[in-house]
Formats: sequence, structure tokens, C-alpha cells
Amino acid sequence: MTSLDAFAESKLAQLEQHALRRALTVTTRTDGAMVYRGGRQFVSFSCNDYLGLSQHPHVKAAALAAIETYGTGAGASRLVTGNHPLLVELEARLAKLKQAPAARVFGSGYLTNLGVIPALAGEGDLILADELSHACIFAGSQLSAATLLTFRHNDAEHAEDILKAERGKYRNVLLITETVFSMDGDRAPLAALAGICAAHDVWLMSDDAHGLGVLAPGDVRAPLQMGTLSKVLGSYGGYLCASLPVVDLMTSRARTVVYSTGLPPAAAAAAIAALDIIAADPALTARPLTKARAFTQRLGLPDAQSPIVPLVLGSAEAALEASRLLQDEGFLVVAIRPPTVAEGSARLRFAFSAAHSDADVARLADVVTTRLDMRVQA
Ligand SMILES: *Cc1c(COP(=O)(O)O)cnc(C)c1O
Repeated sequence: MTSLDAFAESKLAQLEQHALRRALTVTTRTDGAMVYRGGRQFVSFSCNDYLGLSQHPHVKAAALAAIETYGTGAGASRLVTGNHPLLVELEARLAKLKQAPAARVFGSGYLTNLGVIPALAGEGDLILADELSHACIFAGSQLSAATLLTFRHNDAEHAEDILKAERGKYRNVLLITETVFSMDGDRAPLAALAGICAAHDVWLMSDDAHGLGVLAPGDVRAPLQMGTLSKVLGSYGGYLCASLPVVDLMTSRARTVVYSTGLPPAAAAAAIAALDIIAADPALTARPLTKARAFTQRLGLPDAQSPIVPLVLGSAEAALEASRLLQDEGFLVVAIRPPTVAEGSARLRFAFSAAHSDADVARLADVVTTRLDMRVQA
């Protein structure tokens, strides 16, 4: 065996030992909340396509029309020949929705944070992030030469304590949080954080990957609002909404804009069509949260704050076992394990969608009560 393969094998063996080895399972989705895996059909509670827009006939038609007219790829970075008019239109639409002066789209949400954060913070600066922030917020922070500190999850007082002690040592400070936490489903205290940022001359950045189109935006708008086209909008890509100079700076300094190919025209067209549907159908956008609340009520849990509901089970093995039990009952709820979540907080993460029927949700809650509670106690 080569040393390379021996390296990979030993890493895999370690992961296996801790129930942390991951595997890909071929899965198809063609309609609503149904997924097909290994010849079986499941109702999925693990898709972030909260409004089912990736399957919506208007969204699909927009993508197909863009491909027919413009082809499949952008051909180059936007700074070369990849600046398609559909991207310009999409950016105008996103900026309007976010009540921001301008927007810039990126290859994905992950690439947005990898591009934006190092363009704003560098040596001599501080990045202060919620400890439960998404992996790409930490990756972007590490790519910058700035100092990275974390504050306790959703604890604005702790963030302020850190700023009181540390602010003076740094030139600029960027505070980053998520509007809706991807693995916990709870919401950031944005108003409190915005107040603290204003008091200490700190730049607030919010990651709205799981909020856009499913939760009413709060009154507080961070000066840096990023998000993804890949979840509620059913497409692919990411964005930053901000002031004109900040967005303009990204055009020259965000490496994931400068050195990466522009979004395919179809991804932009699909996202624009999805934004049209969201604007036209408030009843649709309210549905995922209503379903999540029906679930939490049936289980006697605190009211869901978003379409994401976690059921923390502790060990990775317990989460995998619970996921298998639900699969036996026809539900796909993928186990979330470290390092995606903290050690000892492996969980099932339920993502509710407008495509779920009330009967799906009721049966899921019943199965969780009867089968999982027994296992958790056993
Ligand atoms: C999914 C997610 C991202 C990354 O978005 P992609 O478009 O999937 O790359 C960023 N931040 C948060 C909070 C997310 O949940």
C-alpha cells in the first residue's frame, strides 16, 4: 500500500471507530417531500428545499429557458466574460428584498463566506463569531489573517463582555451570527447584537441561509447580509447584500468572485423565478413554520422558532440508531454528528417543508413519541 493510501485508510479507521465516518447515498427527489434511496421511498425531513421550489414548474421552466437561450455554463469569471445579465437582475432583486443598496452573488453560500470575510478582515482585526456558526464562517475567518474569538451561543451579553475587554486591541471588528441556526433552528438576538455593534463600532454580519423566504425578516438589518440561493430558492449559489462600496469592494477583493467562474445562467434564472413565487405567495412561505410548530406541539416541545427542529440525542451512535428506526417507518431524517455539531450533542435534525402534508407531520410525531422515546429511555 502507498503511504498516501495508508494515510487515508488509517484516518477512515479512526472515524469508523468513533461512528463519525460518513458515506454518500444515492438519493433522488422528483416530487414534493418524497425521496428515493436504495429502491425504497421515504418522506424526507432532511431537505432544505423548504418551499419545494426546486421542483416548482415555473422555477424549472425558467432554468430550462435560460439553458436554451444561453447554454449551460458561464464560461469565465464575472470579471472576464461571465457577467451575465441574469446575474445583474438577480442581484437587483436580492438587494431589494433585503432592503440593501446592492448585492453580489457568489458560487455558493460557502464560497460567499470564504470570499467576503477575508475581504473585510485581516491582520490586526478581530472576528467575533457565535460559537455555533456554520463551518464556512469559521473557514472564511481562518482564511483571513484576523484573530478569531467566539461568544457563547446567542449570548449578546457575552459578546459585549468580550468587546469591552478586546475592542481596543484591534483596528476593525466583524461580528458574525446566523439569523436562524442551521442545526438548532433557534434565532439570533439580532437587535441586541446590532445595539452592541453600534456602541463599539463593530460590523455586524448575518448569515440568513435558513431564514430567507420562510421567516418574516426582523426589523434589524445587518449592514452585511449574506445567504444562499441553494436552500429555500431551490437553486445554487450565494449572495452578499450590503452598501454600494462594500459590494464594489467584493468585485475587486473577494477571491471567490475574482478567481472563480460566474454562476451558470440557469441557476440565476431559477433563483429569480423562486423570488417571484416567494413575493407572490405569503401563504406558501408561512407553511414550513406552521408544520414545524404542529410537530413541536404534538411532542410537547417548546414552539419551533423556524422550520428546523433538533432532537438532541447525545452520542453519534444514538443519533444513527434513531435515524435507522425512523427509516424503518418510512421517514428520512439524517443523523447530524460531530464535527457538524458539538461532541455529545449528536442529533436528529427535522427540516419542515411546505411540501409535507399534515398527515406526514402527525405520523412523524407519533413515530418519534412511540419508537424514539422508548429507545432513548431503554
Ligand atoms: C448551508 C449553509 C451555508 C452554505 O450555503 P451553500 O449554498 O450550501 O454553500 C452557509 N451558512 C449556513 C448557515 C448554512 O446553513
